[in-house]
Amino acid sequence: MTCTCGKELTYNELGLNKKFSAGGAALCIGCLAKRLDVSEERLQEKIEEFLRAGCKLFVKE
Ligand SMILES: [Zn+2]
Repeated sequence: MTCTCGKELTYNELGLNKKFSAGGAALCIGCLAKRLDVSEERLQEKIEEFLRAGCKLFVKE
């Protein structure tokens, strides 16, 4: 799976797309942050939060 910018998506990026449905398109963390109008750091924090909650859509990198 690749982002519209051509970047190969990681497992966690795919997880983010499932959590924050970006209107069907699978986006990398950078493009998703722009789409959601939040910082990339904030999304990284969300990944950590989901990990702590035991969400299987994310893995420790
Ligand atoms: Zn992208």
